[in-house]
Amino acid sequence: MRNIEKRAFVCLLLALFLTAGLGFFCYRYVTQGGDWASYPFNRHMYNNQGQLISGAIYDRDGDALSECTDGKRTYYPDATVRKATLHAVGDPQGNIGTGALTAFADTLSGYNLVTGGYSPTGAGRDLTLTIDAYLNVTAYNAMAGRQGAVGVYNYKTGDILCMVSTPTYDPLNPPDLSESSEGYDGVYLNRFLSSAQVPGSIFKTVTLAAALEKMPDLENRTFTCTGETEVGGDVITCPKPHGEMDIKSALAKSCNGVFGQLAAELGASTMTEYVKKAGLTDRLSVDGILTAAGSYDLSGATQNQLGWSGIGQYKDTVNPCTMMTYMGAIANGGTAAVPRLIRSVETPMGGIPTAWKRTQETTTLIEPATAAKVAEMMKNDVVQTYGSDRFRGMDIGAKSGTAEVGGGKRPNAWFTGFLDDPDHPYAFIVLVENGGGGASVAGEIAATVLRACVDKF
Ligand SMILES: [Zn+2]
Repeated sequence: MRNIEKRAFVCLLLALFLTAGLGFFCYRYVTQGGDWASYPFNRHMYNNQGQLISGAIYDRDGDALSECTDGKRTYYPDATVRKATLHAVGDPQGNIGTGALTAFADTLSGYNLVTGGYSPTGAGRDLTLTIDAYLNVTAYNAMAGRQGAVGVYNYKTGDILCMVSTPTYDPLNPPDLSESSEGYDGVYLNRFLSSAQVPGSIFKTVTLAAALEKMPDLENRTFTCTGETEVGGDVITCPKPHGEMDIKSALAKSCNGVFGQLAAELGASTMTEYVKKAGLTDRLSVDGILTAAGSYDLSGATQNQLGWSGIGQYKDTVNPCTMMTYMGAIANGGTAAVPRLIRSVETPMGGIPTAWKRTQETTTLIEPATAAKVAEMMKNDVVQTYGSDRFRGMDIGAKSGTAEVGGGKRPNAWFTGFLDDPDHPYAFIVLVENGGGGASVAGEIAATVLRACVDKF
């Protein structure tokens, strides 16, 4: 009798394991089946060069960036277009993880839950991306060989119109990195989606949001900068004395002393709360591609280091795409569309979209009333400091950053902001690594790219 009980117990245990295992498999099958089917070892979906056989990739107005003809993958005929769209389209070898050929391989191959990787027409599905090849080329040319990223997106729909990461290369003529990686530093990395870097003064927009909400008298305060401001027993320096100013001018002059002092007054927990709320330490899902998380780490920080953290130095890092989304929320009353790269998915036969992508909204990244005030002050930055002439005809708000990166290297140049224009609701970000002055270097690239965006769309 005892033996039968024991066996029954063992059987029950085995049945439980089986059920749990089956449940786990079903869950993984539904969530990751597409990835399994498009793994390179599924030979029937790849040609003998290891290239995904099916599905074309178009830009938003129908330029074929990559197609598949007779089992061979082809690319756009112009090399500059190929380089400017490399990190969005991907490479045949699959080194660029954010490229559509890799990140959206399951969609391109026509995978679905019922038929798996088999497609009756053998042609997979075509993908229309949100990016515009012409805008990417404009941004790529404006970067002029420098290293960094450019992004522009529509904060109402989420469409990323321009996404360039440099250095880049021609996918038809890939560099041999084993020979020399000179000029190809982190070339497979999409800096826009997958890097987190020292932000410098563009981060003051976060400290400003916290101060506007937590310090009721902020807009009536007058600050004085002598070029050196004492915060927590040590100094925070400015490139020059900024004199007397209110908070609006402090942002336009980008006074480190003022924002360092504000961060120290706000305290570590309030600052951390606002950075988190702005989404800067989280990852965004851009059609399933997770952006790099930024960091805001104050563990063990002194009051003076807390001050530096409020001006985007100390240990701060941000991801360009996430920061751009925060800019979208400032312009859009507190929330913004989550950036996306897929505009539509089509079956190649009729060309009828089988799926249009819905717009997703972020959480509230900044309170609506605060967003309105920050937006006004960022518009004033352009009038007071950057020069409206550079952005003629645009209702633009912006903030520059010249972020010290240490190691004897030149600072990172940043320029980010938004257009307050119902016909062109765009947020943007430009990063030039070790590029020098944010307003001059990155600002110039932003002006060129935004001009192209407004003229074309
Ligand atoms: Zn100052």
